[in-house]
Amino acid sequence: MRPLLLLDIDGPLNPFAAKADAKPPGYLEHKFRLAGWSRRHPLRMWLNPAHGRSLLQAAGPAELVWATTWEHKANTMVAPAIGLPSLPVIQFGETGPAWKFPAVATYAQHRPLIWLDDDFAMYPSARDEFLATRAGLPTSLIPINPRTGLTDADFTEIRKHLT
Ligand SMILES: [Mg+2]
Repeated sequence: MRPLLLLDIDGPLNPFAAKADAKPPGYLEHKFRLAGWSRRHPLRMWLNPAHGRSLLQAAGPAELVWATTWEHKANTMVAPAIGLPSLPVIQFGETGPAWKFPAVATYAQHRPLIWLDDDFAMYPSARDEFLATRAGLPTSLIPINPRTGLTDADFTEIRKHLT
């Protein structure tokens, strides 16, 4: 079964927790106007245009899939900025107390998965329950530091899980 490489945006691709005046090297600033965005100023994001290629290379035979509350806007707004093609999207709607875990479990079924996100530690009991339902299925949650976004060490970690 083809493994899944699940990808969050805020944290892994957009290092939103970096200091406002300390854009990490390689990142470009983007300003997005989102429908329903209530603030007066557009959403400012830093994205690294090299990340698409790096992710596709690291994924190898795995299938890249969006696992972000950006849902389909990931394809229209973020993918083109980092050189990714349009990818399948896991839909979350309003996430409840179990966060993204139920939708990911349903989407993945019995496929091996590697998941890049910055928020696993915020939902420890939901995470443990998710991991229990995945017992015996290759499942790697790779926490990404939202101050740095994806690092070379993270890409090494992804490759390690796929070989
Ligand atoms: Mg995130």
